Amino acid sequence: MEVTVNKTRLSLVQGDITKQATDAIVNAANSSLMGGGGVDGAIHRAGGPAILDECKQIVSKQGRLPAGKAVITTGGNLRARHVIHTVGPVWHGGNQGESDLLASAYRESLKLAVAHGLKSMSFPSISTGAYGYPVRQAAEIALRTVVDFLRQEQPLAEVVFVLFDAESYQVYAQALKALTGKNN
Ligand code: ADP
Repeated sequence: MEVTVNKTRLSLVQGDITKQATDAIVNAANSSLMGGGGVDGAIHRAGGPAILDECKQIVSKQGRLPAGKAVITTGGNLRARHVIHTVGPVWHGGNQGESDLLASAYRESLKLAVAHGLKSMSFPSISTGAYGYPVRQAAEIALRTVVDFLRQEQPLAEVVFVLFDAESYQVYAQALKALTGKNN
């Protein structure tokens, strides 16, 4: 599924984000930046040790990465030249600032891509795996945050959401239809 927001192509695909050839792919990391399971593990496996080396340097300089923030490293052996590592919130029932932190994770990743002159980037479904965020609610926040950002003056040509499983894809597609149907 694909829509155009301003001058930016926003698309949803089902697949493996490590295969994406956008300028950057976003990693749903944890605060340690030392890798982990899920999409984080897949990115480090596919990208090789150069990514972890840079993550270690970042942590030694600025400490652990708080939820809602983002940093950028090389893409190592990936097709993407860069990985933007962000930390989503762990779901604690929805009253612990989860939605603001999730929106911030997307917004900070977008801002970092623009600050580095990147033209295209891919997002996974942040927080909806091990961190337990309900997919329907996460999809609404993810898409609303990205669409709001793209509606401002900004230079991105392409933003892709790469959903790993068919169910997540369907939920994101429904949310995108609801969002763009209402506002465009
Ligand atoms: P979090 O800890 O932020 O919840 P996870 O990696 O556990 O992150 O899950 C986030 C989402 O990423 C889940 O929907 C999971 O299925 C998906 N995912 C796992 N591997 C990949 C991959 N290679 N490409 C894209 N998405 C993936």
